[in-house]
Amino acid sequence: MALLLGEKLAEVSYYWNVSIGSVLKLSHDFERRNSVAEIRKDLLRDSWVVIATGRAIRPTDLPVPSQGKPLKAQGFCPFCEGNEAVTPPELMANRRPGTEKNTPGWTIRAIPNKFTAFSRNTEFATETNGIYSFMTGFGSHEVVVETPEHDIELHQQPAEKISEIIEMLKRRHLDLAQDQRIKFIQTYKNKGLFGGASLGHSHMQIVSLPYVPNELKGLDSYAQATGNCLICDMLKQEKQDQVRLVLESENFIVICPFASRFAHETWVIPKYHARDFGDLPAEQIPELAAILRKVLVSMVDILNDPSYNLVINTAPVNVENRPDHHWFIEVFPRLIVQAGLEISTGYYMNLISPEWAAETLKEKISQLPD
Ligand SMILES: [Zn+2]
Ligand SMILES: [Zn+2]
Repeated sequence: MALLLGEKLAEVSYYWNVSIGSVLKLSHDFERRNSVAEIRKDLLRDSWVVIATGRAIRPTDLPVPSQGKPLKAQGFCPFCEGNEAVTPPELMANRRPGTEKNTPGWTIRAIPNKFTAFSRNTEFATETNGIYSFMTGFGSHEVVVETPEHDIELHQQPAEKISEIIEMLKRRHLDLAQDQRIKFIQTYKNKGLFGGASLGHSHMQIVSLPYVPNELKGLDSYAQATGNCLICDMLKQEKQDQVRLVLESENFIVICPFASRFAHETWVIPKYHARDFGDLPAEQIPELAAILRKVLVSMVDILNDPSYNLVINTAPVNVENRPDHHWFIEVFPRLIVQAGLEISTGYYMNLISPEWAAETLKEKISQLPD
């Protein structure tokens, strides 16, 4: 039987920035709930852990093999053209005229993630058991398959194709944001084994959640303390300092951030104040695609095809009275596996200074043809 304690609700509300009313409203009738995951409170570390509960999985079923075998060598690929029937039905796709949904003929395809911990068919609720508390796995998780071709990586695509990918990510973002229950949308890419990719075929993922994670709390606290946008103030200083500035175009700027957690961590940021990725003007997409392509091509060349992650940080959706935000893209190569120090202290050790990384990247980009 579910127990809802005011204290626990206040705690959930505080950490996840949701109103207690919304938690209460949705937390009746747990019996009807069909949860696929529990987001469990880690009391020791004052954090949260997503634990999949709704499916039996054997260790050998885990998507990334423990021996680190190259994933492309495994044969069948559900994201390749012709294998549409083995994925869940597509949500959106760009298709050649005359081709039917869930058949070949697409150039980019958004589908639900088959192996997800989140579902919009479950209710958002919180429950306690003694000292423990957890939330249900309400949300969504989808995949954007960037190309029907198996062996073309994102950085190998022409800028026009990268524009098509960004445009699809924006369309999915706007579509998810229409669901008023969704408060936060995280778009990301896992590339390579150390980046957490479970399939070699180039793709992005989008998770949507009914609460706002606390990960970018520095943005909020800076805005509350100064009344300014942290990212806008960072850009002012980076333009003065110059040493971490990699590249500028009319509307975007590329920096290696002052406190880079990862070697060659690189951010692509709108130069003007812009809170929501969904507001990215259509006419700026080709410019963003061209600049992102330069960053990726150079990074892949300098670091010899590393695993990496790419994430789009953007403002929460469907929430009021929150501090301002400024969307940006982060790219971080995964050259080493984060180990005991990072896991135990949360402090990252980065062996390449952002100033050096910026210089190297700037030089490599200057050698690229326009
Ligand atoms: Zn494939
Ligand atoms: Zn700003």
